[in-house]
Amino acid sequence: MDPTFQFQHYLLKSQSLGIYLDIQSRSTRNMSPPKVWTQPGWQEYLSARNAGLPYLPAVAKLSTEVVRILGGNPGNMQLQGTNTYLVGSGQKRILIDTGQGCPIWLTTLVNYLDQHQLSISQVLLTHWHTDHTGGLPALLAQYPHLVAAVHKAHPDRGQHSIRDGQTFTAQGTTLRALFTPGHSQDHMCFILEESGAMFTGDNVLGHGGSVVVEDLGPYMKSLQVMTQGVRNEEITVGYPGHGAVIDDLPAKLIVWSRHWEMREKKVLSAFIGANTKTRASLTTRDIIASLYGPEMEAMAGPFISQVLSKLADEGKVGLAVAGQEKKWFML
Ligand SMILES: [Zn+2]
Repeated sequence: MDPTFQFQHYLLKSQSLGIYLDIQSRSTRNMSPPKVWTQPGWQEYLSARNAGLPYLPAVAKLSTEVVRILGGNPGNMQLQGTNTYLVGSGQKRILIDTGQGCPIWLTTLVNYLDQHQLSISQVLLTHWHTDHTGGLPALLAQYPHLVAAVHKAHPDRGQHSIRDGQTFTAQGTTLRALFTPGHSQDHMCFILEESGAMFTGDNVLGHGGSVVVEDLGPYMKSLQVMTQGVRNEEITVGYPGHGAVIDDLPAKLIVWSRHWEMREKKVLSAFIGANTKTRASLTTRDIIASLYGPEMEAMAGPFISQVLSKLADEGKVGLAVAGQEKKWFML
């Protein structure tokens, strides 16, 4: 049992839970961040986790080229709030992400820019989730010159696209885009070329072990792309979309990749009983019960469903539907 589940197991002893067994369909994956976290068990787990998070100041100068401004939206999923970053060392800076739209974020940003006589030249968005793009309308109202300077991998009307490898410069500072879909279909990381750091968006966070992603297959490939990137560029520092600065990004990438690989192996192992020639056909509930115990359905359901979807995409498992029952089998 991995440590996350052990903790959840402890929390679950004292309460009964609703059941989450649905497989996320392709169409719902693209709609909004998953709703699975509203499960009572997860709510309690996330609250307990967040109570132990380190304090982060509203504004922090992290290096000569990077200033972090918190979005003002702390929450179960947002940790201390969404991180937004001003990047560059000259008068003109690049802004990465815009928070959720909390007024305090814009006030803090404007004050910082005024105090240091700085301006924003370009806005880069790591992905479309509203806790990263929600501050955009207010930002553009404040600084209309930025209307023509917003970049996102899959651009909205009036925005520019970002392609893999594209560079953005601000007075001596260069950011290079790294297309890393999975958490969302349009997810981009950015490599800070001068000082060997990576803005990781929501692919790897400053705290915690794992996230629910929109599409696990591409997400795991993206973790590999990031790992290759940090190796090639000798990057150690990660600036995540939520949480504190990551001091050892290569190590964290390995931990997160292994975490999902282990889950995948575990799910496959559930199909193979004592007699390896007999491959069982199992409901998601059966799989969770055999791996973690029946009381873990609600907590483990989202993760196991993601793994099963990935395995189905790869042709390793199939799904048979008989009446109300969906059963998985190995291919
Ligand atoms: Zn986020």
